Amino acid sequence: MKLEEKLGRLVFNFDKEPHIIVDTDRCQKCDHQPCLAGCPAGCFKIEAGKLVFNYEDCIECGTCKIICEKDAIKWNYPRGSFGVAYQYG
Ligand code: SF4
Ligand code: SF4
Repeated sequence: MKLEEKLGRLVFNFDKEPHIIVDTDRCQKCDHQPCLAGCPAGCFKIEAGKLVFNYEDCIECGTCKIICEKDAIKWNYPRGSFGVAYQYG
């Protein structure tokens, strides 16, 4: 099953305020960029040679905060009632 299909099984209530903020200036100096492979929802991508982050597909696992090599991530859960809802809890 493709990632898009898996994410399509979840319900997201998007908040216009991002719950995760990435200081992408620090990403320019990050050698390994582990978030690209480490985020299970594919929220980190390279576009036009730069790292871009999209919080809307975030499944709130916390991986990016732990593996970030440059302490570039301000991580919070979404505000109440926003974010991902899982089918089985
Ligand atoms: S690991 Fe952190 S600093 Fe490195 S590219 Fe990802 S978010 Fe940016
Ligand atoms: S919390 Fe998990 S799903 Fe959300 S952006 Fe970070 S690694 Fe990706």
